[in-house]
Amino acid sequence: MANISTERDGLVDGMPRDERGYWKPDKEFGVPNPVFTWPPDPKAIAKWVKDYIWPINLIYMIVATVTWLYLTPELARMKEFSAGWILEIFIRNQVMLIALATVLHVRLWSQKSQGYQYKWSSNWMSKNKKFLWNDQVRDNAFWSIVSGGTIWTGFEVVMLWAYANGIIPFVDPREQPVWFILILVLVPLWRDFHFYWAHRLLHVKFFYKIAHYVHHKNIDIGPWSGLSMHPIEHLLYYTCMLIHWVVPSHPIHMMMNGQHASFAAITGHGGFDEFVIKDGVKVPSAASYYHSLHHRYFECNYGEMGMPFDHWFGTSHDGTPEAREKMLARKRAMHGS
Ligand SMILES: [Zn+2]
Ligand SMILES: [Zn+2]
Repeated sequence: MANISTERDGLVDGMPRDERGYWKPDKEFGVPNPVFTWPPDPKAIAKWVKDYIWPINLIYMIVATVTWLYLTPELARMKEFSAGWILEIFIRNQVMLIALATVLHVRLWSQKSQGYQYKWSSNWMSKNKKFLWNDQVRDNAFWSIVSGGTIWTGFEVVMLWAYANGIIPFVDPREQPVWFILILVLVPLWRDFHFYWAHRLLHVKFFYKIAHYVHHKNIDIGPWSGLSMHPIEHLLYYTCMLIHWVVPSHPIHMMMNGQHASFAAITGHGGFDEFVIKDGVKVPSAASYYHSLHHRYFECNYGEMGMPFDHWFGTSHDGTPEAREKMLARKRAMHGS
């Protein structure tokens, strides 16, 4: 385990931090997708496309394909709802969800394998009475598994049943390979689009009070916080999968959509900007520092930069003191203090 310093200002384990112990990024954040900037910058677009595909979204494509080929019942079996095949899908989804969150949590948060290195906050998971059982990790795991994994599976089961019965448009990759690849590539971008608007709705006072407050109990976040949501929020969050009722797709697209919603929430809330494999060797963690600022300040960064609505609507916070001042002014205007 790396040396954990109690120093609250300056450098902790080599990480630049502010006076509250929060990591001060030494690189640019909140840079909008150059595909949407004018005039177009071909070099920036090419780099963005490369980073978009490689490696994270390529992994999603492979995992969804493997899931379809080896871990999904025959379509013919799913023409009628029955406990057997539904249970198979429920178990495989829960196993994947629990395995991913557990591996990240145990390594980074329990074993503290890299100490504070690349950690956004200097706090660890909290024991606080606002959480179920006064324990953030158990509370977060409860909402993620009991509500998240179940509602995700519910959406997937209905979609597979609809594919099996020819109710929704089915694309055969052997007949329409270009369309198949195009939709596969666009799924994560669609997720960014859907996430922004669903999340914006959840910040309407009514929905915040009945549902979204559960997710926002987490100021400091870890892998289990990602899917720690009220069932009403899960019901809204997974509606991203319903696009396949209207956009002709293969079940691989629909499953990638659901897996992306589940797994990107877990990795996105991971709490560390980089994984340190061993001294001097690190890899990007797929965690979203940008979204962590939403947990800290609430009224900024409702989406991600693939679909830069925050940038367009003036709610983007890139971690700089200037962005913080702008956000505080906006909060004062909203809340009158
Ligand atoms: Zn969150
Ligand atoms: Zn929120």
